[in-house]
Amino acid sequence: MRQPQPTTSVVIVGAGYAGLLCATRLARKTRDLPVSVTLVNETDTFTERLRLHEYAANHPIPWRSIPATLAGTGITFVQARVTAISPQRKAISLAPAEGAERRLTYDTMIYALGSATERASVTGAAEHAYTLAPRGPLSAEAMRAALPQLPAGARIVVCGAGATGIETTAELASSYPKLRVALVTEGVFGAFIGERVARYMRRSLERQSVAIVEQARISEVRADSVALADGRSLPHDLCVWAGGFTAPSLAREAGLAVNARDQIIIDPYMRSITDPAIFAIGDAAHAREEPGAPLRMSAFTALILGAHGADCVSDILHGRAPKPLSFAYIGQGIALGHGDGIGFSKTADDIARAPYFTGRIAASIRAFGLNYLATSAERDKHPLGAYLWTGKGRYARARRQAAPQSAPQAEPHVDDTPRVAVGARRR
Ligand SMILES: Cc1cc2nc3c(=O)[nH]c(=O)nc-3n(C[C@H](O)[C@H](O)[C@H](O)COP(=O)(O)OP(=O)(O)OC[C@H]3O[C@@H](n4cnc5c(N)ncnc54)[C@H](O)[C@@H]3O)c2cc1C
Repeated sequence: MRQPQPTTSVVIVGAGYAGLLCATRLARKTRDLPVSVTLVNETDTFTERLRLHEYAANHPIPWRSIPATLAGTGITFVQARVTAISPQRKAISLAPAEGAERRLTYDTMIYALGSATERASVTGAAEHAYTLAPRGPLSAEAMRAALPQLPAGARIVVCGAGATGIETTAELASSYPKLRVALVTEGVFGAFIGERVARYMRRSLERQSVAIVEQARISEVRADSVALADGRSLPHDLCVWAGGFTAPSLAREAGLAVNARDQIIIDPYMRSITDPAIFAIGDAAHAREEPGAPLRMSAFTALILGAHGADCVSDILHGRAPKPLSFAYIGQGIALGHGDGIGFSKTADDIARAPYFTGRIAASIRAFGLNYLATSAERDKHPLGAYLWTGKGRYARARRQAAPQSAPQAEPHVDDTPRVAVGARRR
């Protein structure tokens, strides 16, 4: 009698852009193997983070069911919050919405817990400012309830003018034209994205009567004002904190090598450099090799990392050598309130370039793009797969250029350099 083969258990934690696509793709690619795929997420709906500023401004956004997306894939879905990871025991601790804490063991874990707005670096931000977290105190959901209560003329101060801060400012100004909205930035407005895009975004915000406060370092957020390092104070009735993103602390607490944002440091095959049983994808991963280092936290890269992570794990389980991460940026869009936005092409290295699209055309292209990103996991269930990306030859080209002329051109191979000590932690 044939003995049943032992099943390899792959647990993916986090069902955002990266985790959900990774799950459906990996299940499809390992159908021929005795592999079980389990996906853990704290909610049973997919959070379209790219639309949370619209949600905060009281617009309806889709909340797609995760179990419905997984239908027919054979993936086991577990709705629970991950509270700890034990790499030594190859186990994760789960707190389900109802019932007692439980443990889940794995042979391979894929860490896809995303990121959240960092609020600890400025005094008072965590206590007095809203962020675009989906739910909880001072979240997008809480802002959605608070904004309609504000009287005409009330002041909103948005802190941070990265893409998220700009999109949020424009959305609030266009949805609530009777409120006075200010956007505060430490440097020159729009410097992160190039002059042409910055000029358009500035004009759009000024048309919507937004006050842009530049070169202003925030020293403290108070209950009714934002204090600047130069002594000025900006009164507010509602403050939104849109500083940078940081990954959850669970990986650092588990002793994995992480960077200053608590992202797991990975090799080109998406594996933690300190634990080969753990892979990381999406905002929670930090690639250490070009092309990809540093990765911009975005849904665009999260999907590529999710798909590539699935391909690497599938290759390893099939006994094949995985390919190194290689991709090119192609474009970006920034929403600027109702019916306005700017979209543009990008060089492979993420620098904005022509063609540029503005106004309603850009807003329509962006709306299409958002839907495309949010439904990639569902489409990739097709037996032939559907998710593709460009720039797959860039890694090999970069290796060739870096190699001395006389050296033999080695094929990329699985990085089995000695695991570095856990040294990249912060605090
Ligand atoms: C307002 C806003 C606008 C944005 N606009 C853009 C844009 O235009 N373009 C772009 O490319 N990017 C944009 N981003 C960034 C983008 O949303 C992120 O880069 C992307 O969501 C990262 O995907 P991810 O799968 O890594 O993580 P996430 O999408 O954050 O998914 C992580 C998942 O893990 C779950 N999770 C987290 N912790 C736990 C836990 N302890 N236990 C169980 N589950 C957990 C979460 O519920 C979530 O489902 C925007 C972000 C915001 C907030």
